[in-house]
Amino acid sequence: MSDIDNEILKELQDVKGRLSGVQQALQLQRVQQSMASSKLAQLEMFVEKTTPMGYMRALELHLADHCNFSCSGCSHYSPLAEESFADIAEFERDLTRLAELNGGYIGEMRLMGGEPLLHPNITPFFEVSRRLFPDSDILLVTNGALLMKQDNNFWDAIKQNRIILSPTKYPTIDWGKIEAYANRFGVQLKYFEQTDKSKKESHYYPIDISGGQPAPASFLRCKMANGICPLLQHGKLYPCSPAANIRHFNKYFNKSLSITELDYLDIYKVGSLSEILNFFARPVPFCRYCATTKQRSLGAFKMGARDINEWILQGDEQ
Ligand code: SF4
Ligand code: SF4
Repeated sequence: MSDIDNEILKELQDVKGRLSGVQQALQLQRVQQSMASSKLAQLEMFVEKTTPMGYMRALELHLADHCNFSCSGCSHYSPLAEESFADIAEFERDLTRLAELNGGYIGEMRLMGGEPLLHPNITPFFEVSRRLFPDSDILLVTNGALLMKQDNNFWDAIKQNRIILSPTKYPTIDWGKIEAYANRFGVQLKYFEQTDKSKKESHYYPIDISGGQPAPASFLRCKMANGICPLLQHGKLYPCSPAANIRHFNKYFNKSLSITELDYLDIYKVGSLSEILNFFARPVPFCRYCATTKQRSLGAFKMGARDINEWILQGDEQ
């Protein structure tokens, strides 16, 4: 090999060395960027879940605990609930107290269940909630199976009290007929959780019955946390439906997942709205039962069989 060839070879090796250095630097930069964006996402999640809201964005209320459907893994445990209806006097008392605390405004109030249309006298609930919360969006969240059985009095009351009919779009219902009815009575219809855009799916929100999940981490990943789905029941304000309704699961399957005084607020003992908003922005002891990392869609909707496996963490996922 001539001297010139040797020089060219040396030059090429230098270039190769420099290129490899640049490649390593780029790779390092990519790893750093990905770590930074994952840290940013974690920080955003932390801020979103732990910053108290400026007002109550939402509130859920059961007009019936039980349901005429038995959806797999229902997060309200309604397929497991015994027949139980909301009492209008208690409903008015509790909402009056809440209105005193929050100035009579909630972003979105959801009258639901269970199946609210199972209630034998539902229209007074529309009147009371509208009177006490004149400027809130008030939704009637229903599976729709009993809608066509309602009389004109029901449709008139929904219209007069500006209740938004908010059905979940289950595949077994004739929605065209219901849309025509809502149209005829001038009732606003807005499908719940955007199920008008996609087909209703079944979900898996597993409970770890050992209570061994890290509560703060479960809370930070929870889609219901920080005032997204708080639920008012018998004067108690819960952060979410699982904490409020686990008693149905306990009774049906003979379990004893515990709810303590730290898992809810008694609205008759609370002194201010900020106390409520701060409560929503913190994990509760019950969060240790929620395996939020394992939550997922199960695809096309299917009815359940009231089998405990629809609600609990499976052995191989522990
Ligand atoms: S219709 Fe709603 S409340 Fe009834 S079982 Fe299904 S998810 Fe639960
Ligand atoms: S108990 Fe905590 S983690 Fe579980 S659903 Fe409620 S807020 Fe979310």
